Amino acid sequence: MANSKTSSNRSMATSLVRKAGVRMTQQRRAVLETILASTDHPTAAMLYERTKAHMPGISLATVYNCLETMAEAGIINHLNFDNGPSRFCPNLEPHVHLLDDTNNRVLDVQLKPGLCPEDVFDLPEGTCVTRMDACLHGNIPV
Ligand SMILES: [Zn+2]
Repeated sequence: MANSKTSSNRSMATSLVRKAGVRMTQQRRAVLETILASTDHPTAAMLYERTKAHMPGISLATVYNCLETMAEAGIINHLNFDNGPSRFCPNLEPHVHLLDDTNNRVLDVQLKPGLCPEDVFDLPEGTCVTRMDACLHGNIPV
């Protein structure tokens, strides 16, 4: 199971990087595979620790550079919540983020099936939403 997931992340990483026209390096592959295996919207420091576990020579600066390059290429999302450190999201499907006020846990939240942003928000007439980038705050049951 773990091998299948790792293999899936590896091929997804290669495909994403190719599609974005970004040159694949060993470091970028390692960082991207690490974030693709993460569902907790990690910070750069968290990704550095996780990537270092299987690529001991990688530096925090390299991880930051890889994340910046991949975010600029649209391979991952770079998130900023209030004054906290930047976090990163590999989910490229339309979604918003739900931030737990008590423990800073972040969940991906999709619109209910069949709804689009124009159905949910009172937008100016004629607005066409091209991307969702919102953060909801609350207390998420554990
Ligand atoms: Zn997300």
